[in-house]
Amino acid sequence: ALLYYLDGEILEEEPKVSAQDRGYNFGDGVYEVIRSYRGKLFALEDHVERLFRSASYIDLKLPYSPDEMSKLITDFYNKSGNPEAAVYLQITRGAAVRNHTYERGMKPVVFMYSKPLDDKPLSYYEGGFKAITVHDGRWDMCQAKTICLLYNILAKQKAKDAGCDEAIFVRDNGEVTECGSSNLFIIKDGILKTHPADNRILSGITRKYVIEVARKNGVHFRNEIFYKEDLFTADEVFMTGTLSEISPFVEIDGKTVGNGKPGEITLKLLHSFYEMVRSV
Ligand code: PLP
Repeated sequence: ALLYYLDGEILEEEPKVSAQDRGYNFGDGVYEVIRSYRGKLFALEDHVERLFRSASYIDLKLPYSPDEMSKLITDFYNKSGNPEAAVYLQITRGAAVRNHTYERGMKPVVFMYSKPLDDKPLSYYEGGFKAITVHDGRWDMCQAKTICLLYNILAKQKAKDAGCDEAIFVRDNGEVTECGSSNLFIIKDGILKTHPADNRILSGITRKYVIEVARKNGVHFRNEIFYKEDLFTADEVFMTGTLSEISPFVEIDGKTVGNGKPGEITLKLLHSFYEMVRSV
């Protein structure tokens, strides 16, 4: 069942936080979303490591060591008893009378929930998804997973209003970075490419595992910048994310991708990844 955690307390009812919380006033905080399969959290260490990196980008000192954080998340998740779950973890800088600047040494507010998920069958992913391209005018710290998601929210809403599943971000120079809440890969002439993990994208945990799966399957891979026009000449395009796993795109801006069905290499990666994460 849906279970909550706030600052040391586990609750079945939604907890309340201060209206002066800097997360509420400024979006001043970081977060993670961790997926569990068959009763076990997937890639927990990667998520905890990224959480600490995100916190350090925003000058936020976390009140735990990485090991303590992992244990806190695992203990909470185990209590929730959800074999298939999304665990959301948010740490904000804390509560104080509103002021842009902050005092170091404030007490961060740790919030989690564990939400049961329906495990998606392979056929769900094999059906394919649609995207639109949107302008990427985000800041230069996209590598930090912060709760300031307004740009992503507006992009994803635009996609939804257009009857699509995701928004693909394109910068002023035509460079394709990632999606509203996932990373993007293209395949052209047998070569798999995704944007390098720099300050313009969030370095996805799924992205990392998909690259590993590609290597294991002998798929040629490059961390390489590509452009909007490449989306329309690519043979295959897919996104990756903790909750979207590997989701193939069959239509972008109303144009068919490849032959209009998930491509051969994408399906190979999808099957291999799908199996790997569930064989725990
Ligand atoms: N990019 C953005 C902007 C995201 O918000 C996310 C996940 O929420 C991702 C990429 C994918 O990251 P992960 O695979 O770690 O879930």
